[in-house]
Amino acid sequence: MEKPAICGGTPACQTPVQYGKQYIDDADIQAVTEVLKSPFLTCGPRLPALEQKFCEITGAKYAVAVSNGTAALHIACIAAGIGPGDEVITTPITFAASANCVSYCGGKPVFADIDPETYNIDPASIEACITPRTKAVIPVHYTGQSVAYDEIAVICKKHGLILIQDAAHAVGTRYKGKPIGSLADMTCFSSHPVKTVTSGEGGIVTTNDEALYRKLLLARSHGITRDRGQMTDPSDDPWYYEMVSLGYNYRLTDMQAALLSTQLDKLPAFSKRRKEIVARYDEAFRETDGIIVQKEIPESDTTRHLYVIQLDPDVLTCSRREFFDAMAAENIHCQVHYIPVYRLPYYQRLGYPKGLCPNAERLYERILSIPLYYSLTDEQVDEVISAVRKLCAYYHK
Ligand SMILES: *Cc1c(COP(=O)(O)O)cnc(C)c1O
Repeated sequence: MEKPAICGGTPACQTPVQYGKQYIDDADIQAVTEVLKSPFLTCGPRLPALEQKFCEITGAKYAVAVSNGTAALHIACIAAGIGPGDEVITTPITFAASANCVSYCGGKPVFADIDPETYNIDPASIEACITPRTKAVIPVHYTGQSVAYDEIAVICKKHGLILIQDAAHAVGTRYKGKPIGSLADMTCFSSHPVKTVTSGEGGIVTTNDEALYRKLLLARSHGITRDRGQMTDPSDDPWYYEMVSLGYNYRLTDMQAALLSTQLDKLPAFSKRRKEIVARYDEAFRETDGIIVQKEIPESDTTRHLYVIQLDPDVLTCSRREFFDAMAAENIHCQVHYIPVYRLPYYQRLGYPKGLCPNAERLYERILSIPLYYSLTDEQVDEVISAVRKLCAYYHK
């Protein structure tokens, strides 16, 4: 049996395969260049055009584009009225931003455990976390697969909770045929370069609720309004505006809006290619002893952002770190998504106990994200599959 290379860094002649990468074409470059030659670098016509396009893609009534996905989550929490004393339930298997947005508002993130097979938040665990202080739930469509939306929506309705979806991974995904972005009270997207579509930095909140939409607009731009209907002391003076609440400057520039717009034109192609790669990986790894594949629920038509393999400790002798290093030695650079949020030192200092969510902690110990992006070639996919299989054979008990 061939021994895996020992991690000695990347040979200089080979570009390592990363876990994620953006894809920028001439249409993107031209769109950004046009903005640079136009009168508006920000607050121009590209922003409403992008928001309109995003509504068409997601089927949402309203879209508010902001400077990043974290800002999207933050203004969603502001619009939901999260404040000191409020609890908001989310998953620990996510990027810190899904909980930080609650902390920004003075609320307390509460971590429900995950389903050990889909890796998404477990509706039964959400229900078990509800207290009289619970105000909202922020499920995350982890890796792009939709959460069990109907079950979660029923719980939210029964307890009067606001449902904010973190869809940073899930642009293009559908749940029972409906696009993510059209379903919850508010849905938050990110266009960071590792995500499926990018604008460098960027985020969008969608909603079907006009009152929430107005609050999102205020929170994005200093709490300032020129809408007389929202003013306490309306005036005819043409320069007059009012700051009616405390907001932020979370605006997206027109360069970014133009880029995200041309990126969205490619979303069908991006989705298709990601699905092809996922199908190849699924097929290969279902038959690979030592690898556990993420379970897909039939309700989710998934545009996958991350491909996560779970190493089976009953089959493999190596640690996750050894596997990670051995993959790097094969020139394939993996990542781990995610360290459970409450295990991060900031949240540890707030007193969240270790072992709080056993399924999440067990999953974290075993997972690796392998390369998944639009421009990954079939040859590269085969290289990743061979490397994983080779290591599974080598480290087999
Ligand atoms: C990327 C990401 C965010 C934050 O998005 P940014 O645009 O990087 O601020 C939030 N939640 C999840 C699950 C993410 O993956």
